[in-house]
Amino acid sequence: MDYNYGKINEILKQTDDYKRFLQDVSGNFSHAYMLISNDKLLLKHFGNMLAHLLMCKNSYCGNCITCQKLDLGVHPDLIQLPNGQNVLTEDIKKIIDNSLLVPIESDKKIFIIDNFSSANVSAQNKLLKILEEPPRNTIIILLVDNENNVLPTISSRCRKMHLNIVPDTQIRRIIISSKYNGDIDNLVELSGGSLTRAINLTSNSSYVELSNVIFDVIKSLNSSSTVLAQINILLQKKADISEIMQLFEQYFCDILLCRLNKEKLIQNKTKLNDLKKLSIVYNPTMIDLIIKKIYLSRQQLKSNCNQVSILDSLLMYILEVKKKCSTL
Ligand SMILES: [Zn+2]
Repeated sequence: MDYNYGKINEILKQTDDYKRFLQDVSGNFSHAYMLISNDKLLLKHFGNMLAHLLMCKNSYCGNCITCQKLDLGVHPDLIQLPNGQNVLTEDIKKIIDNSLLVPIESDKKIFIIDNFSSANVSAQNKLLKILEEPPRNTIIILLVDNENNVLPTISSRCRKMHLNIVPDTQIRRIIISSKYNGDIDNLVELSGGSLTRAINLTSNSSYVELSNVIFDVIKSLNSSSTVLAQINILLQKKADISEIMQLFEQYFCDILLCRLNKEKLIQNKTKLNDLKKLSIVYNPTMIDLIIKKIYLSRQQLKSNCNQVSILDSLLMYILEVKKKCSTL
């Protein structure tokens, strides 16, 4: 896949969210921003675009040396953290030390802290000091996928911006720009407005296949004797088990939407007819139970339980719910 940061930013510039940012920055900008979304890649792009808007003299022209350096991630006044997965106290210490130095090329210094929800209380409290008395010309951008993990004292000192899902038009252009040569319509649907998913899908063609296999499993789930065979099929795909869980959840949400006559909102539009048939079998109570079980399975996966037994227990549960509820 041909991943070009600047190109994707150019496409995202056509979203309403970007226009909101543009407006915000052209007014009086804040010394601290908190961008919020569960689409991690989208957060990264918007963090980068915000840095452009704050540093480029022509509000993100895309051509000047500042813009070029920001796109390549080599601008000396843009510091991105953490270096590892999670934000550590040392990362915050680096920001504090570095913020005392004057900017090198720009008139501002920008710190982007990715995955800020992973910072523990002591790291967050350390950052609080700098937010309370921000050094001149320093701007801090926090990328947050779970707002609940951020201390209210931090939140209240940031200008908060919730990102919307990416409209299909832009997702389509991003997929096309990646030179993907499969079924683009289908991929736009599977992405469901998530940039992260769109990028994962374009670089992983087996995902579409996996998605179809899971739908077949749901359609043919009729007796406990077939469960084992179906688990084997899923495991042979060597897919990421959390991806499997996500797909199960997505399909059951779609079935529920069909049941509620909200077909317009479903993600897997190419499967509408089959989803409608399934919506006759599964009522909202059953779907609620099943989705709760999927959440539980995801939690169990985090604590390293056996993948086969988790899948087995999920499929058996769906069967059980089906049997119980149909005899009521
Ligand atoms: Zn520029």
